[in-house]
Amino acid sequence: MNIATPISHACCDHSFEPEHLHATVSQLFKPSGVDGVYGRTGAYESVIEALAALISSHRPQDAEVFRFAPVMPRASLEKQGYLNSFPQLIGAVSTLTGSDRDISKSAAKYENGGDWTEDLKPSDLVLAPAACYPIYPIAAGRGIVPDEGYVFDVAADCFRHEPSRHVDRFQSFRMREYVRIGTPQQIQDFREPWVERAKGIADAIGLSYIVEVANDPFFGRVGTMMANQQREDALKFELLVPVRSAQSPTACMSFNYHKEHFGEVWGLHNAAGQVLHTGCVAFGMDRLAVALFVTHGAKIADWPAGVRQALRL
Ligand code: AMP
Ligand code: ZN
Repeated sequence: MNIATPISHACCDHSFEPEHLHATVSQLFKPSGVDGVYGRTGAYESVIEALAALISSHRPQDAEVFRFAPVMPRASLEKQGYLNSFPQLIGAVSTLTGSDRDISKSAAKYENGGDWTEDLKPSDLVLAPAACYPIYPIAAGRGIVPDEGYVFDVAADCFRHEPSRHVDRFQSFRMREYVRIGTPQQIQDFREPWVERAKGIADAIGLSYIVEVANDPFFGRVGTMMANQQREDALKFELLVPVRSAQSPTACMSFNYHKEHFGEVWGLHNAAGQVLHTGCVAFGMDRLAVALFVTHGAKIADWPAGVRQALRL
């Protein structure tokens, strides 16, 4: 018989972080037993909600709102080339299938000290690694994109397989995005002002930051070349906030230009037959919330009045 073992808290404490960080985050998160996945307190969630409202107040005119599930079709991820770019981050849903007899045989393996997980079969779902991925096939499904293009407001609970004990890196985290689909000029006209607007949001909530050119964690040796190219072409900028340290600040928002990638994958085109470009501005909601608590303290009541006013807290 299997004896239940107590969850080891060593696997998800933050005691290796500087003392002030440890003291702050231990008031916000309760360990789940797995690094990068936590129970969140009501105070923490009130900040997430306040941030969401603040970001909504900057919603572009005409933006269409969609909220997505934490899972998305595996076929979509495959089609858009995620297996080449970021296979190390994938989390896929697997299930027990077959007859009731097959399923109970598999489940009984656990009680008998065996490995029930060897019977899991991949389902047609993966965990969503970014909030914007489901929007491109939806937009493409409408047919020819109107000349003014599209703007979307999307959000999802995202998963990335990057277990970590650092306070700013989760496996499961909330992402909010504004997404633009249009001509290269329309994407540029969208992205550039957003960098300035995002700085204004960070100013309003009392976060210090730098904005720098960045790259995605493309996989492997080819990935290193892709990352270099991405930097050279300035396709990604990040707004970085000193959370763990000033030397390695944390990307809390990102400003991405995907060029024609999603347009080609999903067949997004205008009436003239041009393949359209896409871009997005992404807000790491949990990173922004952690940055606020680390900057202003664990007790919201003690935060600067201006910050609380901006967040209506
Ligand atoms: P990216 O697509 O990597 O630019 O991610 C969009 C935003 O999500 C980033 O700017 C971060 O704020 C946030 N983010 C990315 N990875 C993580 C993670 N492991 N934990 C928490 N937030 C994350
Ligand atoms: Zn995006």
